[in-house]
Amino acid sequence: MTGRGARVARRWAAMAAGAVVCGWLSTLTPATSTMAARTAERHAANTVAAGKPGPGAEVKPTSTPEPEPTPKPPPDCRKVKCVALTFDDGPMGSTARLLDMLAAHQVKATFFLVGRNVEQYPELVRREAAEGHELANHSYSHADLGRSSTAKVTSELERTQRAIRRAAGVTPVLMRPPYGSTDKQVAAVTRRLELAQVLWTLDPLDWRFRDSGRVERKVVGGTRQGHIVLMHDIHSTTVDAVPLIIKRLAEKGYVFVTVSELYGKPLTPGKKYIEREPEPLQKQENPGPQQNQEKPEKPDKPDKPEEPEEPEE
Ligand SMILES: [Zn+2]
Repeated sequence: MTGRGARVARRWAAMAAGAVVCGWLSTLTPATSTMAARTAERHAANTVAAGKPGPGAEVKPTSTPEPEPTPKPPPDCRKVKCVALTFDDGPMGSTARLLDMLAAHQVKATFFLVGRNVEQYPELVRREAAEGHELANHSYSHADLGRSSTAKVTSELERTQRAIRRAAGVTPVLMRPPYGSTDKQVAAVTRRLELAQVLWTLDPLDWRFRDSGRVERKVVGGTRQGHIVLMHDIHSTTVDAVPLIIKRLAEKGYVFVTVSELYGKPLTPGKKYIEREPEPLQKQENPGPQQNQEKPEKPDKPDKPEEPEEPEE
């Protein structure tokens, strides 16, 4: 082999080795890695590829130091496709398994807590707060607030605020009326207690159909940008559906945020929120030839907030 031929052969060997390293790195990519994680991996791959190994050098990926667990700033939901997963009626025993799943996928959710369950499982509430989820008020006894006296509405909400504060040291700023049952009186009380009313956009009826496959299909098929998805962590069939929901929505480019993160600003006490409406300015922008196919649109089925939840067991 001539000197030139040997040089070419060595260059080819080095390129092949680089490809092996890049391939090895790509196998580390988890299926549902976040965009940030993917960027970090791409960066790592570039770093390795840039340090070209000389001829004959042993190709070994430089041991990348463990990334610092810096708290990520919340995503800007004006720019990325956000969805808020919310879980009602807990905590219950099944909540622990859900928290494991959310932690494994680094997904943040919002929990609308029933006060008496908070008193029964304070350690789960503490864990929800410690792991970055948003805690919210869902009344003390899952009461129909729209049909209750002012005194009852006030006591249901205040008792729950106290229970959550005792358990986790945080004071919720959001509430969700059980059964979506609200009226002017509930609006007035929540305004006074500095709680915004959060309803929902998408209800997969997980409390009625205890079928994980159905829950997953309804949520994945119905979710659009800015939606608030209603689920119940007290049903193990719902908890079972969560890993696939996260995987499929992440594949569609969705980012999971808490309800407060979805709006990106403090919500107005007393006011009702159902979804994050697209920014009016974005509608004016020239659509261009390739419009985003995931533009918010009406879900295939009207999921009315008035839909009653399952009666108390
Ligand atoms: Zn409920």
